[in-house]
Amino acid sequence: MTVDTGPISSQLLELQDMDQQIRAIRDRIESFQGQLEAVEEPAQQLAEEVAATEIRVRDLRLEERRLRLAAEEKRLRVHRLEERLNLVRTVREEAAVQAELGLVRRALDQEEQEVISLLDQIGRLEERLDEQRAGMEEVRSAVAPKKQEIRAQQEAIRSEAASLEVRRGLFAEGIERRYLSVYEGLAKGGRKLAVATMTDDGACGSCFSLIPLQLQNEIRSSGRLVSCEACGVIVTAPPDVATDGLTEPASQT
Ligand SMILES: [Zn+2]
Repeated sequence: MTVDTGPISSQLLELQDMDQQIRAIRDRIESFQGQLEAVEEPAQQLAEEVAATEIRVRDLRLEERRLRLAAEEKRLRVHRLEERLNLVRTVREEAAVQAELGLVRRALDQEEQEVISLLDQIGRLEERLDEQRAGMEEVRSAVAPKKQEIRAQQEAIRSEAASLEVRRGLFAEGIERRYLSVYEGLAKGGRKLAVATMTDDGACGSCFSLIPLQLQNEIRSSGRLVSCEACGVIVTAPPDVATDGLTEPASQT
């Protein structure tokens, strides 16, 4: 399926116009993306803080568990030493067991203290975590309508871009291959203009270099497509003057 597309110079100009519209829409889609990121940023930052606190809580819980197990083991040792104390036969032996018992009990005390202090830290961190989470949720719900609005605009413009791309595809199918491929080659190079109309005083409509008189006449009389010697764009007659382009894009040289 193709659409009626008129003379080649106006076809190329119209194609270029569509491409520019598509580019502009893509830029807008991207700018919406930027807006979305800017709106999400504060909540994102808070989410990172929440994650950091969660990691600290997890680490402290692991440390607490490790200390609890160590304390448990020391409690068993204390128990065993106390049993041994009942079986000692000499004063010397008793003194040795008492000494060891003293050491283990002190270590146990210290670990129990550490567990308490860790639990205290964990408790405070969990409070902070709750506050951070609440703050994050608050910011998230505060920006939710704005996000939704941006997303809706983005969606609308995406479907606009999609339908324009479909129209552009159909339109391009109606353009003679050889002209289309010259145009596409120029457009793909990333330049802003691939085709430009000649100005009234015979200059390239893109870079304003003067086009040799003979070529000017050909452009005006036969609608010939000429490649600008200075900047490389396809120079055409203005659409209302152009007749069908019968010659290939030719270099001035
Ligand atoms: Zn030029």
